[in-house]
Amino acid sequence: MAIERTFSIIKPDATARNLTGAINALIEKAGLRIVAQKRIRMTREQAETFYAVHKARPFFGELVDFMISGPVVVQVLEGDNAVLKYRDVMGATDPAKAADGTIRKVHAKSIGENSVHGSDAPETAAIEIAQFFSGNEIIG
Ligand code: ADP
Ligand code: MG
Repeated sequence: MAIERTFSIIKPDATARNLTGAINALIEKAGLRIVAQKRIRMTREQAETFYAVHKARPFFGELVDFMISGPVVVQVLEGDNAVLKYRDVMGATDPAKAADGTIRKVHAKSIGENSVHGSDAPETAAIEIAQFFSGNEIIG
């Protein structure tokens, strides 16, 4: 299996409840390495760019407002098959449908305030990582 990188965000609902460490423990328990991490406050422009693919969806405005409502922790995760592995660790978008033991099942509040983001493919991971990190900030 190939060593991959994926992009993760610990969202404002999770930072508000002091869950950064609990979520990082689930990430590390799954064998993913946190090779870059910083706590930031996203600007509206950053959030709109990041979620541009969802611009036409009815929840877009609510999603952007939520993502800028508090601090987030942006991360680069590295490991075998990291993109798909992290999607498994996160669980389904809607916590009501997420598998037992997943981050969203354990911690998410709702389909919108669902605690974490993870890239959906290696190509989007590369774009998302580049939006928030320069190469010398990622130490594998
Ligand atoms: P995922 O984060 O699992 O990849 P999507 O890419 O489909 O999910 O959606 C991006 C984010 O938009 C979700 O994580 C969630 O925060 C929000 N979202 C998705 N669907 C809804 C919805 N029906 N209502 C409110 N927010 C939503
Ligand atoms: Mg997505």
